[in-house]
Amino acid sequence: MTDTHAHLDFLEPPELTEVQAHLTELRAVLTLGVDPSRWEKTLHLAKGNVYAAVGLHPTSAHLLSPEVEAALRHQARHPRVRAIGETGLDYHWTPETRPAQLQALDFQAALAEELGLPLVLHVRSRDGKAEEDLAAWLGFHRPKRVVLHAFSGHPALEAAGLKVGAYFGLAGPLTYRKNEALREAARRLPEDRLLVETDTPFLPPEPHRGKRNRPHYVRLVLEKLAEVRGVDFAEMEACTDGNARVCFGW
Ligand SMILES: [Zn+2]
Repeated sequence: MTDTHAHLDFLEPPELTEVQAHLTELRAVLTLGVDPSRWEKTLHLAKGNVYAAVGLHPTSAHLLSPEVEAALRHQARHPRVRAIGETGLDYHWTPETRPAQLQALDFQAALAEELGLPLVLHVRSRDGKAEEDLAAWLGFHRPKRVVLHAFSGHPALEAAGLKVGAYFGLAGPLTYRKNEALREAARRLPEDRLLVETDTPFLPPEPHRGKRNRPHYVRLVLEKLAEVRGVDFAEMEACTDGNARVCFGW
């Protein structure tokens, strides 16, 4: 199993130690450091089967400056870094920083392209506006290798993602009872575009809702994805492990 999206730097001992003991159950984990205060710890955690991404989350886009850009460019060259992000658009928590979010997105997309790394995208809004804006951004910028993290099933984003050959990261919400539309999307997405993830410590799958998530809970997402697509677990695991290997190059 591969967890393509976790934030291990949000954990402290003893929780971190307990979670690390389970990492042997996984083929690989991508841990993402999402603002300058988190990059160093994230890179420190990237050992063994844990790889790193560095970026500036849209809710931290107000931090963007020439100094932060230079620091990110520097950290991104660390040998354990396999992606840039997460970046994207968040009108749920920080609608007021939309211009800075777009600027941070453009910068990180250019950096990913320059370094030949995939770009990991986050998107969130109450009314679908951020998803529509990100779909338009994708169509215009056409990034070479891109991951739609915690894909929600938004139709315009699905169409735009398919056009640019994006990877779709399926997370805990796939297991939520009300999410039939997302399961329908997961059923029809091309096999070679599928990734699974947890977003640890957020977005826990059923039956762990209300608690903190862990990378090895990706098994529950993978089981649901196998069920939805009518294939057995081992086949779904081999498929998503292989896709992650191609996407992140480990
Ligand atoms: Zn995340």
